[in-house]
Amino acid sequence: MRVISFYPGPSRVYSKVTEYIYEAYMDGIMSINHRSQDFMKLYADTRSVLVEKLDVPEDYQVVFVSAATECWEIIAQSLTRESSQHFHNGAFGKKWAEYTDKLTSQVVSTPFDLNEALPVTAVDLTADVLCVTQCETSNGTYVSEATLKQLGDARNTDQLIAVDATSSLGGVDINLRLADVWFASVQKCFGLPAGMAIMILSPDAVRRAEVLADKKHYNSLLWILENASKNQSHHTPNVLDIYLLYRTQLKSKGIAKTDHKLTERLKYWDQFFEDLDYFEWLVENPALRSKTVMALKCPEPEKVKKKARNADFVIGNGYGPWREDTIRIANFPAIKGKEIEGLSKLLRKYFN
Ligand SMILES: *Cc1c(COP(=O)(O)O)cnc(C)c1O
Repeated sequence: MRVISFYPGPSRVYSKVTEYIYEAYMDGIMSINHRSQDFMKLYADTRSVLVEKLDVPEDYQVVFVSAATECWEIIAQSLTRESSQHFHNGAFGKKWAEYTDKLTSQVVSTPFDLNEALPVTAVDLTADVLCVTQCETSNGTYVSEATLKQLGDARNTDQLIAVDATSSLGGVDINLRLADVWFASVQKCFGLPAGMAIMILSPDAVRRAEVLADKKHYNSLLWILENASKNQSHHTPNVLDIYLLYRTQLKSKGIAKTDHKLTERLKYWDQFFEDLDYFEWLVENPALRSKTVMALKCPEPEKVKKKARNADFVIGNGYGPWREDTIRIANFPAIKGKEIEGLSKLLRKYFN
């Protein structure tokens, strides 16, 4: 690959993707009819490989949609009676609240500081859904399992917890029982081309969809689930991405091993940035930092990105309010060890 993207999404895709695309072409996968037996088998196989590799609880449902953004709307349309509470400390969580606000009658917005843990004590016991962005891709913060558990303990039992896990699912070993709705698009930790998302639903989430019975939209959750029960989708899906997801996950050693790899790499980066005075973590408390998206403050982000780009590495811009003084670097599974070596060597050379 000529250019290695450390951008936190879309990011580097798995090297094997070219081979799988060739196979998909040769085997006619790209032209497959989405109501055919071949597609239904691919759908079922992809779902089972995900259940196995991501440790999805057996009573949870897995469905495929187009984007994380679509999941925000599905939750608002099909799982929210009146109100949802949005905990956010960055651009993606905020956008989720704003999109929802256009669709539902009430949004409870609960901002918090990026150097503080999500305020579980602020839970609004009247909200139908509690919305959490697990890894806030814009600033590299992370909501830990311990915090999710506290949120689960603090809520009413009929409140659903929905987690935007776009930059964590597929990279971090997560106890999925800690929430009712999980979703992620595939261009982050799954190392695939953009254009698809995975949604994982607890029995309580499915029950809520049944009770609310929203049928107004092409992507009403009941309609998605009804199609999924037949191993089909609610519209002509991104079959190529489903196929690539199937092939790459089949090859995965499982989420525990992937998580371990990322943990070791984060340790490496942590030591690396400790040694270089030029960079400083945006998130001061290590316990609140994401394992998958690193946000670093530095005097001249433009210079860092330019030096990297000259050596064919792409580094992420700062996002939103952090645009001017931070860079972001993905620690996603598809990135190779020798690419990390290459980038760190370059940064050490120019920014020591
Ligand atoms: C990238 C990202 C999204 C948006 O994903 P789309 O595929 O563009 O819908 C949403 N949430 C988070 C946390 C993200 O990182």
